Amino acid sequence: MTSSIKLFSLGRAGVNLLRPSVFGVSPIFRNYASKGEYIIVTDKEPCMDMKDITDRAATTMFALELARGFGVTLGSLFKEPATINYPFEKGPLSPRFRGEHALRRYPSGEERCIACKLCEAVCPAQAITIEAEPREDGSRRTTRYDIDMTKCIYCGFCQEACPVDAIVEGPNFEFSTETHEELLYNKEKLLLNGDRWESEIAANIHADHLYR
Ligand code: SF4
Ligand code: SF4
Repeated sequence: MTSSIKLFSLGRAGVNLLRPSVFGVSPIFRNYASKGEYIIVTDKEPCMDMKDITDRAATTMFALELARGFGVTLGSLFKEPATINYPFEKGPLSPRFRGEHALRRYPSGEERCIACKLCEAVCPAQAITIEAEPREDGSRRTTRYDIDMTKCIYCGFCQEACPVDAIVEGPNFEFSTETHEELLYNKEKLLLNGDRWESEIAANIHADHLYR
């Protein structure tokens, strides 16, 4: 039940004075001080039988809630901590984690990218810029592959669109820099990332292959 009552204006301190009560109600007041009005938002009626009054009095006098709180703290002392000592320890990452971009090569060392520009077309942030021209052997390869990492929203569309798994978002999330320019990646930087993270990227793609 919600009811509206008028109270004299005591501000927040006044509300706190009114709140805790051993023998009576512990209503939750919302301060509508600008209107000079408070609304009780609890519909819990206080139980006034002897057992409940005694329970409430015991809880207050023996600080039972405080003791229970200490109990929780003590119990946590003997559990394995939920925190880790980053950067020396790192938590597990999903194979689908979308981190820093990389351009991959085939085991022969040949670039995977065939310059189809699907990634450039699909990128919603227009962060990718590709230029391409045919090689002497007739294969089509990029001459320029840039990603503005400060535009990227890490949506993963580029790697979803790529028909040859060339552009991927790898597991690396530690690539913060001090300048904007350092986050303008070119083809060399992306290929270097690919070389560096290839084993992890290949394992992640393999782990997720059933869902691709
Ligand atoms: S992750 Fe999304 S925003 Fe970033 S380059 Fe790929 S498609 Fe563009
Ligand atoms: S990275 Fe993939 S999608 Fe993008 S141009 Fe190369 S082959 Fe096409």
